Amino acid sequence: MQLSTPLLIYPPFADPTWPYVSLPTIKGYLQSKKINISIQDFNAEMLTYLTSKKTILEWKGTLQKRARQLNKKQTSKTKISMFEKLEYHRILQAIPLCELDFSAALSLLKSGQAFYEKQNYLKQRDRLEVLFQIMEATFFPFRFSFNRADHLVAPWDFELLGHYISHKKSPLDLWYQQKLAQIPANQQFIGISLTFISQLPETFYLAKLIKKQLPNCFIMLGGATADLVAHELTAHEARKLFTYVDAFCLQEGEESLAQLLPLIATHGGRPTDYELEKIPNIFFASNSDQTILHGPCKVFDLKTSTAPPDYSDLDLSNYLAPSPMLLYAPTRGCYWNRCSFCGYGFNQSGKHRYREIPIEQAAADLQSMQKNFATSNFYFSCDVLSPKYALALAAELIKRKIKIFWSTDLRIEANYTLKNCQLLYKSGLRAVAFGVESGSEKILQLMDKGITPHLIEKINANFHQAGISTAWMTFLNHPQENLQDIKKTIKILADNHKQIDQFIVGNFNPTPRSPIACNPTKFGVEKIYYTQGDIFHLFPLHIAANDSLSLDDKAQQLIDKKIDQLSSQNHLDHYPWAGAISTHHSFLYILKYGQRIFAAKWPKLKNSRAHFSTQKISDSEEQWDYLLANYLQGALRPSDYIRDKVPTALHSFRYFMRWQKKL
Ligand code: SF4
Repeated sequence: MQLSTPLLIYPPFADPTWPYVSLPTIKGYLQSKKINISIQDFNAEMLTYLTSKKTILEWKGTLQKRARQLNKKQTSKTKISMFEKLEYHRILQAIPLCELDFSAALSLLKSGQAFYEKQNYLKQRDRLEVLFQIMEATFFPFRFSFNRADHLVAPWDFELLGHYISHKKSPLDLWYQQKLAQIPANQQFIGISLTFISQLPETFYLAKLIKKQLPNCFIMLGGATADLVAHELTAHEARKLFTYVDAFCLQEGEESLAQLLPLIATHGGRPTDYELEKIPNIFFASNSDQTILHGPCKVFDLKTSTAPPDYSDLDLSNYLAPSPMLLYAPTRGCYWNRCSFCGYGFNQSGKHRYREIPIEQAAADLQSMQKNFATSNFYFSCDVLSPKYALALAAELIKRKIKIFWSTDLRIEANYTLKNCQLLYKSGLRAVAFGVESGSEKILQLMDKGITPHLIEKINANFHQAGISTAWMTFLNHPQENLQDIKKTIKILADNHKQIDQFIVGNFNPTPRSPIACNPTKFGVEKIYYTQGDIFHLFPLHIAANDSLSLDDKAQQLIDKKIDQLSSQNHLDHYPWAGAISTHHSFLYILKYGQRIFAAKWPKLKNSRAHFSTQKISDSEEQWDYLLANYLQGALRPSDYIRDKVPTALHSFRYFMRWQKKL
């Protein structure tokens, strides 16, 4: 029998406007070692299924059936709960929306002409957002978008994952069955890339389906979120992971796969524990006694080992954009790696120092990708480029006459003089995002950010003057931040408004593995804690050491008003749409209309999303919000009885539901 080709899958839900960099990078590397693999992007392929008339009609049938059940219950003597009222209301809203044509919206967003007409773009964008509204009613109480897949209240744990899978709550269940039916029965290896938290439920859903269909296939999870998930578990909980998959790849996967795949081919399936233990970065349970075992840690050498990413398995017309944009990672890690709040990628593992692909090779990689995949638009998907590297790469691109357009994240650094920014522009850099974080010198120092407000303003101005669109990422409420500090952030945004093309003002939340999460008291945080359901420790919660710094209602309203005033002058949007920072769609709009395209308000959409909605917010929504707020008030705060874990989890939520039904 012919050997099956190892398969790597990128699961939903994530940005469908471009192919993520990880799997093509691994494929390119393995190809250079003469190991053939195939990659599939389920996240992009699913779009046609989700938007098809047939799918929407099936969901409409499900909604109508459920509406009849709830109607009957309402008219009988059984009391309908507040939760059911909420579901009922959402169903009534969703049923008429099923008449809309979603596949047309998909086609129009892929068509150059419609994409670049602002009104038309907004209309189709809204249409796809409505699709999520239907999904949320059909698969209640789960919520979906291109960067979200979660439960209304409870975080993902094994209980919730089990419920999601056994009740077939994935909107893609039928589509997965069709996709998996195409996989040969002798498939020996499937890897799933769990990069973002929003991919977590579908990753485990898929793994379970694959295990059922192909019990002898070796399944491995990799990616930044897989690394987080596996690291934080006790051995007892980790064993539960291995009822879904055979192994995890912690950190970078190139070398792990280069050693694992030949072994699997030789054995026709799972290698021995002894062999697995020698594979770098692998994490698995022993076949004999379920002991949790690790392979040695290996950091990938970018200087000698890389090959250009290979996107050839992916149909680039599947992506939600009129033209392709490819991701490329010329560096890995962060050369600064000190910011208090940062836990990006694998940086905080302590093993992943900053590394760079040699300049000549990076330029050659870009040139070959441009030729092979007929695109000139690139996003450098890395934590950061050192200024020396960014400038040398720009010079090399110019020297080789490589005509591309690119975008990336950069640190504010003094080396970015106006002359250097002009060089970057000449090499094709058209949009850059800065982690500005704060306008307060005190807070920047507390963050160990290594920059000052003065430097931020100066360097931003240089980029702006060179013609490069600049985006500022800021956030409020860092530990020990007071009202004056917050005002300084708002002031620096307002003062530089004419030279900032996009911005966000977020709110502080501790990030897993960040210096604050690891050493809270050093940063004025009394305590980091988790909910009972958050067994993977993906959502750290915190209590500030000094409560007196938190804003009162009046101050909060003032700040909200000032942020609204600032935002009202721009077209800002959420991920992955045009108007959000570092998205493919934003980049295309910047290329077409110039760096200030989002610095002005776009004309209002005549038929906005609200137009499609049949009813206003009902009493049940309001009552539900009130009850939920009450529940969360207790369920999210530590008490004297439970100090390290607070109640929020599926079981405590169910208890609350039973209780509220009696009201
Ligand atoms: S926030 Fe940016 S500069 Fe700071 S450590 Fe993280 S990646 Fe590096």
